[in-house]
Amino acid sequence: MAEKFSEKIIESAWKNANGHCERCGKLLVRKNRGRNSGKRGCWEAHHKNRSKESILSNCEIVCVSCHKKTRSFGKQKNQ
Ligand SMILES: [Zn+2]
Repeated sequence: MAEKFSEKIIESAWKNANGHCERCGKLLVRKNRGRNSGKRGCWEAHHKNRSKESILSNCEIVCVSCHKKTRSFGKQKNQ
């Protein structure tokens, strides 16, 4: 399983995404990373490919609802 992204990578990915979900384009709130739904603009740093390294090119900024659609969601939570 891939390791977590460093803050530096997340910061760069956030800038690349311009504060929007890279899947649906929804506006996100920087400080709401990792929060569960209920708060506006919640998001996660998602591994595009979980078997690959935690590098910038493998980092995708996604809103919580898009993150729920990814396969990895739920598995981490239940561990
Ligand atoms: Zn989204």
